[in-house]
Amino acid sequence: MSNILDGKGLAQQIKDEMATEVASMMINGDKIPHLAAVLVGEDPASQVYVRNKVRSCEQVGFKSTLIRKDAGISEEELLAVVEKLNQDPDIDGFIVQLPLPKHIDEHKVTLAIDPKKDVDGFHPSNFGRMAQGLPAYLPATPNGIMEMLKRYEVPTEGKEVVVLGRSNIVGMPMSILLAQKNYPGNASVTICHSRTKDLEEHTRRADIIVAAIGIPEFLKANMVKEGVVIIDVGINRVDDETRKRGYRLCGDVDFEGVSPKASLITPVPGGVGPMTVVSLLMNTLKASKGTV
Ligand code: NAP
Repeated sequence: MSNILDGKGLAQQIKDEMATEVASMMINGDKIPHLAAVLVGEDPASQVYVRNKVRSCEQVGFKSTLIRKDAGISEEELLAVVEKLNQDPDIDGFIVQLPLPKHIDEHKVTLAIDPKKDVDGFHPSNFGRMAQGLPAYLPATPNGIMEMLKRYEVPTEGKEVVVLGRSNIVGMPMSILLAQKNYPGNASVTICHSRTKDLEEHTRRADIIVAAIGIPEFLKANMVKEGVVIIDVGINRVDDETRKRGYRLCGDVDFEGVSPKASLITPVPGGVGPMTVVSLLMNTLKASKGTV
């Protein structure tokens, strides 16, 4: 039996379910979910991410609005865009794609988003609610991972989980969610970061490892035990002259080496990435129903 956690296939299945739900919303004359995305500047990676998000909205029948702004937009002007979206009754949720140009304070922009429309789950109000186990918009990547664990019925209760990385968008929320008092949670969670002493001592005893550090193929076979469940969040470009585009994508885990020891493992690409996009759609659907 395959040990692959197929995020791509699962994301498609969830999109199909959503498309069916949106079709019946249309028949019933209900409001169609509407996601807006604000893209500032020309960062190539951000353009790809936003294009994927907008395309995914179209695939499930959501309305989507893309607002493009020049990299030279002032902080004040961007805050005015955010406020307009906060006030627009047709927009259920919106995101401001990060990173923003250096002259704009990302924290200030995040704080300006109405938490009820914060489908990226980055507002401290949503983060705090998540930490207290209250209904909240969960950040997209951890939310997608939780959905994947749920759908694949991966046992988490009483398990030793090691999260590599403590960023606000992946590592830290992931550790909170896996320690929460319901499924998929109830795990004993250790967070490792750049100051961790003897990281391998932690990873070798882990039943589940979530790797989110941004170092290509960092986690090697000798650092994990037999039967481990691997969630590889990393998306890294490494030079590869055999590829037409001159690079290949890889995760934070040495897939070739670790996969034979893992009971379950997410590939890169095709694992966590597609679930992240779907998770934004799940949040938008919730926003349109007012269920958060
Ligand atoms: P980040 O903000 O750069 O955080 C990296 C974390 O890794 C930090 O906590 C850092 O520790 C830790 N770290 C760095 N080097 C380490 C080392 N040698 N040993 C142990 N810990 C180390 O990263 P991020 O935004 O969470 O992203 C992580 C990766 O996931 C990136 O490859 C990113 O592209 C990818 N990503 C993928 C998705 C997706 O949808 N699949 C979504 C978001 C991010 P300190 O805190 O001590 O600095």
